[in-house]
Amino acid sequence: MMKEKTVVLSKCASCGQLFGITMERIGGIWHCVWAFKISESMAHFEGYGDEPVSGNIFVSDEYPGCPYCGNMGWVSCGDCKKLTCYGAEIGSDFTCAWCGHSGATEAADSFELRGGGM
Ligand SMILES: [Zn+2]
Ligand SMILES: [Zn+2]
Repeated sequence: MMKEKTVVLSKCASCGQLFGITMERIGGIWHCVWAFKISESMAHFEGYGDEPVSGNIFVSDEYPGCPYCGNMGWVSCGDCKKLTCYGAEIGSDFTCAWCGHSGATEAADSFELRGGGM
């Protein structure tokens, strides 16, 4: 099976630091398989986040969680579409680590993500 791979940038909700999430497209669904710390200059150099990711995204069992605080999930901001790590129950409030937008989280199967634009 052909595998597509991409890296989406996310920020940690507790420390605001940047990390990359490796996603693999398997059978038309994006699977989050890895997360790693990265600096803004390195992410820019690698071109991470330039490609928007849309569709169904699934956090796989292999996903190690946020490399800074260990949160196993993430939320996509309703305003800027970027990712912030997240560990609480769906429905709790969150604050976007990128733009400061805050609101309640909602469960979703389908996403439109933008990782770059730093
Ligand atoms: Zn975190
Ligand atoms: Zn935001």
